[in-house]
Amino acid sequence: MVTCTALIVAAGRGSRFGGPLPKQYALLGDRPVLRHTLEAYRSTSEITGLRVVIARGDESHYRNAVSGLELPLPVSGGVSRQQSVLYGLEALVGESPQLVAIHDAARPFVRPADIAACIAAVATSEADGAVLGTRLADTIKRTDAAGAVSETVPRSNLWRAQTPQVFRYVALLKAHRDASALGTAEATALTDDAAVAERFGLKVMMVEGSEDNRKITTADDLARGIAMESRTAFGFDVHGFAPGNKVMLGGIAIAHTHMLSGHSDADVALHALTDAVLGTIGAGDIGKHFPPSDKQWRGVSSDRFLRHAVDLLVARGGRIVHLDLTLVCEAPRIGPHRDAMVDSIARIAGIDPSRVSVKATTTEGLGFTGRREGIAAQAVATVETPRR
Ligand code: MG
Repeated sequence: MVTCTALIVAAGRGSRFGGPLPKQYALLGDRPVLRHTLEAYRSTSEITGLRVVIARGDESHYRNAVSGLELPLPVSGGVSRQQSVLYGLEALVGESPQLVAIHDAARPFVRPADIAACIAAVATSEADGAVLGTRLADTIKRTDAAGAVSETVPRSNLWRAQTPQVFRYVALLKAHRDASALGTAEATALTDDAAVAERFGLKVMMVEGSEDNRKITTADDLARGIAMESRTAFGFDVHGFAPGNKVMLGGIAIAHTHMLSGHSDADVALHALTDAVLGTIGAGDIGKHFPPSDKQWRGVSSDRFLRHAVDLLVARGGRIVHLDLTLVCEAPRIGPHRDAMVDSIARIAGIDPSRVSVKATTTEGLGFTGRREGIAAQAVATVETPRR
């Protein structure tokens, strides 16, 4: 088998990104951008080694991003991308893989199949390198300094270069060593590894990839870039009546001949909704987070349970799409309170009321709800979470 080490370049400072962290360490959904990139490479069976080049001072960000992954120590980058790649290549001299795949950490959407296609393009040909890219679809104009069009450039053989850029290791190392001896102006013009390779006469092929493999440049790219999946989960709860004069349902008090007894304020509706939301992220149930045996929850408002479940979802990069609640009881009548309950649940969950549904039914006098011994609640939560 051909050996191919991926060299992930994560040493940039991302001046256009503007967040508190360099973009490769910012969260894309529930994981740092760099982590997504590394996971794509770990899912590519043709990749036999993985090394990351980071900026000095980013060590703690790096450790956080790769925790649990067994990786060799990162390489410290240089003052420019080109120097960082050179340092990374020099760090591989000991293992000397046959091929090296250079990849920008800020391209987390790369598909393993495209990485493999670039590796195959070099491994099965005489080429020295292969670059993933897309053909230009837009019409290309050249302008003068004042912005007036001077030419429409034929686009038939024009490509946008992405990463990975896969090369024969020894050839690329030599090209980068030679490039490091060039003057600043000439070196600065070599904006990717393929340009370095081309400058020293290496043969580089383009491999057609996907527009999805875009680079994260701005915070907006992060927000748009998360591949989400929808999940649905169910919650169910029952509380019995006890002597009293009001019940809590969906966070509002409704006058009644009894109260509900049990955990906290016994808001059976919020408890069922909490379990449904927890279910969407596999986070157990309300009893796990707020044990009924724990005295601190006695009598408290159940708002905090639903809020806690939503917070856990949001911390994973998720959001609620819809909450659907069905209350099962003969009394009190729910209809007159439905709108207030919808508004209350929406407020607690931090979503628009249009995303909340409250329904009610009786059991025609049958069973414990029919005997007016208590209230049952069923809830369905639909959410979006980042795809894992
Ligand atoms: Mg309960």
